[in-house]
Amino acid sequence: MIRKDGIPVSGGIAICEAFVLEMEGFRVTKRVIGDEEVATEIGRFHAAQGAARREYESNRDNLSRELGAEFGNIFQAYMMLADDPRLNRDVERFITENRYNAEYAVSLSINEYVKTLHRLNSNYIAARVDDFREIEKRLLRHLLGGTRERLANLTKPVIVVAPDLTPSETANLKREFVFGFATEHGGKSGHTAILASGLEIPAVVGVGSFLQDVVGGDIVIIDGDVGTVIIRPDEETLEAYRRKSELYSSVHSQLQSYLVDKEAITTDGYQIQLNANIELPDEVEICKKRGADGIGLFRTEFLYMTTGLENFPSEEIHFNEYKRVLECMSPKPVTIRTFDFGSDKAYGQSTDERNPALGLRSIRLAFKLMDVFRAQLRAALRASIYGKLRIMFPMITSIFELRQVKMVLYDIMEELKYEGQKIADGIEIGMMIEVPSTCVLIDQFAKEVDFFSIGTNDLVQYTLAVDRDNREVTHLFRSEDPAVLRLLQRVITVADQYGRPISLCGQMSSDPVYTMLLIGLGLREFSCMPSSLLKIKRVCRGVSTKQCVDLLNEVMKLDHSNDILIKLKKTYTDTFLLDRV
Ligand code: PEP
Ligand code: MG
Repeated sequence: MIRKDGIPVSGGIAICEAFVLEMEGFRVTKRVIGDEEVATEIGRFHAAQGAARREYESNRDNLSRELGAEFGNIFQAYMMLADDPRLNRDVERFITENRYNAEYAVSLSINEYVKTLHRLNSNYIAARVDDFREIEKRLLRHLLGGTRERLANLTKPVIVVAPDLTPSETANLKREFVFGFATEHGGKSGHTAILASGLEIPAVVGVGSFLQDVVGGDIVIIDGDVGTVIIRPDEETLEAYRRKSELYSSVHSQLQSYLVDKEAITTDGYQIQLNANIELPDEVEICKKRGADGIGLFRTEFLYMTTGLENFPSEEIHFNEYKRVLECMSPKPVTIRTFDFGSDKAYGQSTDERNPALGLRSIRLAFKLMDVFRAQLRAALRASIYGKLRIMFPMITSIFELRQVKMVLYDIMEELKYEGQKIADGIEIGMMIEVPSTCVLIDQFAKEVDFFSIGTNDLVQYTLAVDRDNREVTHLFRSEDPAVLRLLQRVITVADQYGRPISLCGQMSSDPVYTMLLIGLGLREFSCMPSSLLKIKRVCRGVSTKQCVDLLNEVMKLDHSNDILIKLKKTYTDTFLLDRV
């Protein structure tokens, strides 16, 4: 049994067989195949060879065009090596005679050539070794890359373990088969983590190097509440986690049946609006089930990730998805945030940006991809008649930028009216507060928008200069940092002075440890992960605003985030013992 600790990002216990997703580094596992698999493995090898050949061919043609035939011929040589009859013969022999899987057969064959070359001991030969390694890598990438494709075709429950999962891979996970996942990389506010929680898949990220300890088919336990991953558990541990999992489901169903229809009202009568965040339209059902008061954040960029990144989804696709969500939630509000690509949410075109979080992301990209942006806005406005739509812009940094984006929106409204299309009256327009500059100028922004939503995931990242998705600095990502709390205090107070509704939709709103503090700061609207709605409601209903303000006053005297967190956790556990559900 091996136990590893990582960052808990999506609660719950999962116990299942591991599905190991490889990436670079290509850890090749030796597998002895059955007679019936021989033809398949040979087929996989030839398919990988074909794919490698095609890639080399196109590299050759491109390079010949750009730099001349002598450069292109480098790839001609690779093409020939990849197709070498001896390589064919050796790999096929290892598969048919030794019954090895294709990856292992390729690695073994190339290792033998490399060993022979080394024995010859010459500089010329050393360069050939690199050539063989290149072929090996290319073939393995095609063979093991298939593992990633197989992820989309799972037919039985698994726990996915991987170096990393991209947000789009996570968005495409089949919930019925992926019971949980654990990754070596990642941080607690990255989008992979957010998606896991939205999809209610128990998940632990940032575990560090552990893939060498797990083989596909091993039993793995994921404890998404504390961040533990257990590989090949012993009987006693397995039994303990089975019991914990049952307890988890029973607390969950108690909360569901007791709280779902109740309002989030503090004991002194203040109404709290509890909205939900969604990434994918399908999640809207779960939000309704959990009694959400509306959708406070629809991260629409995930629509682009599921429909394929090369072709942006058409206006019609957007329209149908928005209509579905609006109709489902009507008459409750749905806040569509325009696409927020870039940084960790790739949008198809790879960029060489050194600091993608500070680069061409979000609203900046919208100005660059104007046609794509206009199509999205047209779709949202057309869908507005099917419910209560609010439109929100992400990552605004300056008044000028906000005015520019509003001009685009008004222009599209005119365009649609001119075409005779119907648009709802009084659509509210809002912006995210996620860059410190907007906190500084909050009074000016308040004159220009109908509502605000605080994105603490980015606000913390930009205020404390801590990458939200990097496990090396995850300990520095502190939503309770005194500097962050002062910014929150300022924006909530000023928004209130201007009569502008303000919500908080970053991950901080989904953690019940922060709920009292946020109410104390004056927040009356939360937008959280659907899986957290009931836990947050439980806190709202169990406290008075006075208790929350008292806590805030104590916390504001502390100057170290560790002390603040200890205080918040203690207050939460003292006030909300599990048995008081
Ligand atoms: C945030 O930054 O807090 C936020 C809600 O937006 P996202 O997580 O999608 O960047
Ligand atoms: Mg953000």
